Amino acid sequence: MVNIEEVEALMLKHFPQCPLCGADKGYEVSGWAKSYVQCRLCGAKWESTDFISCKELKELQLWDPSSDGKGTQLTRKKYSVKFWQDPEAIKNAVTRTAESKFIFHSEMTDQQLETLITRSLEEITHWDYGSTIEGKGLGFLISNTSSAEAAMIRLLRAIFEQNKITIIQNELLRRALLEVKTH
Ligand SMILES: [Zn+2]
Repeated sequence: MVNIEEVEALMLKHFPQCPLCGADKGYEVSGWAKSYVQCRLCGAKWESTDFISCKELKELQLWDPSSDGKGTQLTRKKYSVKFWQDPEAIKNAVTRTAESKFIFHSEMTDQQLETLITRSLEEITHWDYGSTIEGKGLGFLISNTSSAEAAMIRLLRAIFEQNKITIIQNELLRRALLEVKTH
C-alpha cells in the first residue's frame, strides 16, 4: 500500500497550488485507502481512486468545497486533472451548473440577464428548427424516438427556453420599476 507522502507528492506534482484557492500549503491525505486529499488552507477536499495505486493521476472528484463555499456547484462531480488545472474551465463549469439550477441569480447584472436572453433565443432557433438541414444533422440526439416524439421534444425544449426568457424579462422589468420608485 502507498504511503501518505506518496499520495501528497502525486497531488503536488499536478497541483502545486490548490485548484480552488491557489494556496501552496500542500494537502492532508486521508481515508482508509488514502484516496482523499484536502487543501491545508481552504479545506477543499478531493477524492480519486487513482491515489490507491498512486501511479497516474487522471481524474479527481471534488468531495467537499472550500470552507468558504468555493466549488459548491462542483461537489461530488468527477473531472479530469486537466480540468482542475484550468481556472477558466472551473469558472465556466460553476457558472453553467449554477445556471442549470436557477434561471438567474439576483446578483447578476442587467447586462448578464440580457446575455441569458440572447442565449435562450439562440437555443430556440436551435430546437425549433423543424425541417432545416441543421435539424437533420442533429438527428442523432433523438435517433431512438419516432419523428412525432422528436418533434415534441424539440417543441418542449423551445417552450422551456421561451419560459426562461419570460422569467428573466420579468426580473428586468421588476428592476426597472424598483429603479423608478427609488429615484
Ligand atoms: Zn485550497
